[in-house]
Amino acid sequence: MNQSDLQFDKEHIWHPYTSLIEPLPCYPVVSAQGVRLTLSDGKQLIDGMSSWWSTIHGYNNQRLNQAAKDQIDKMSHVMFGGITHPSAVALCRQLVDMTAQPLDRVFLADSGSVAVEVAIKMALQYWVAKGQKQKCRLLTVEHGYHGDTFAAMSVCDPVNGMHELFNNVLTKQLFAPAPQSRYDGEWDNNDLIELTALFEEHHHQVAAMIIEPIVQGAGGMRIYHPRYLTAVRQLCDKYDVLLICDEIATGFGRTGKLFGYQHANIVPDILCLGKAITGGYMTLAATITSQAIGEEICRTKAGVFMHGPTFMANPLACAVATESLKIIGENNWQQQVSAIESQLKRQLTPCLELPQVHDVRVLGAIGVVELKEAVDMAAIQQHFVELGVWIRPFGKLIYLMPPYIISSEDLSQLTAAIFSVISNKSE
Ligand SMILES: *Cc1c(COP(=O)(O)O)cnc(C)c1O
Repeated sequence: MNQSDLQFDKEHIWHPYTSLIEPLPCYPVVSAQGVRLTLSDGKQLIDGMSSWWSTIHGYNNQRLNQAAKDQIDKMSHVMFGGITHPSAVALCRQLVDMTAQPLDRVFLADSGSVAVEVAIKMALQYWVAKGQKQKCRLLTVEHGYHGDTFAAMSVCDPVNGMHELFNNVLTKQLFAPAPQSRYDGEWDNNDLIELTALFEEHHHQVAAMIIEPIVQGAGGMRIYHPRYLTAVRQLCDKYDVLLICDEIATGFGRTGKLFGYQHANIVPDILCLGKAITGGYMTLAATITSQAIGEEICRTKAGVFMHGPTFMANPLACAVATESLKIIGENNWQQQVSAIESQLKRQLTPCLELPQVHDVRVLGAIGVVELKEAVDMAAIQQHFVELGVWIRPFGKLIYLMPPYIISSEDLSQLTAAIFSVISNKSE
């Protein structure tokens, strides 16, 4: 890419959460292989982000490439209304096998946010079918992130959730304080006081509780105690509220378990999956519920679930996802993620000695360094690129979620870059 391409990009193309008036620099990536991104000047960067949780098997993966090529020669797309195809069936078979009983009714959506919209609509339609349409509010916790569409925005953190701007049009939902008990710390029963009070007071109006199991991602990279999730399940049962687990970030091994809900041995009523599902090749997501809930949803006057995207179950995406889940099924991820976890603990913990650092937390293939002050994004990004790594902080958070296939040497380069960038900040 030449200067004129970059200038065109700057003037005409929106990037995620960016200004058209004062755009921050964008780095031109022309190819990628394994854990490395190649910039147009030939420089290589080790990717610490897995392109936002998704590229778990690495870039340009031979098996995923082959799956895409095989499928593209048969059929790239066909509508899903009144038609089915082998890649959708193969993928959904695997999803049903991998997830807990009784989750076995799969809705394939085209992005994570849409999977969350679908989960919320399922919950609302379920209560309409039950003759309880007053149960139409959602309960969630602060510091959550569930996507950028309207229903999803309504359950993102009301302050940090990046959507304050839209507060006057967003549905007012119920927010409990985020759990304070850390995953690796003591359990504190006080975490349940306000949550329990919200259930007691509002359960007649609440359709579902939605939560990211164990790790809250983009809303703060917080890692909380499994007992909280166990209690959430119990409260949902006691008060007749559906439980939606949003595993779009945590699913497929990222936290050290195949799914985050397994840390607490619970099963949600509705499960959202996305991001890593295709190994980061293309957009696809899934919302899975049980036969009982699925059938109840269809007992409204309409007789059907009221959702159906144009690109539902896109065969190319399904074929790649099927291969990606096959790789997961071979179970190397467990060893890879636990090795990443030990190394992150070993190499990020020393950051605690730096005066700029407030906290360090690690779970599975997720490592977070929380600073006391927000970072200067453009400066820190440039510094990381100079050090040969791709790490994209937000606010006070510098974090890693590398591809599972990363080598120990490459991971060391990522953690060393973080230490170096933070210590240089004081100069
Ligand atoms: C990324 C994310 C979403 C939204 O997914 P998109 O594919 O960006 O629409 C929803 N929930 C969680 C937990 C996420 O991490």
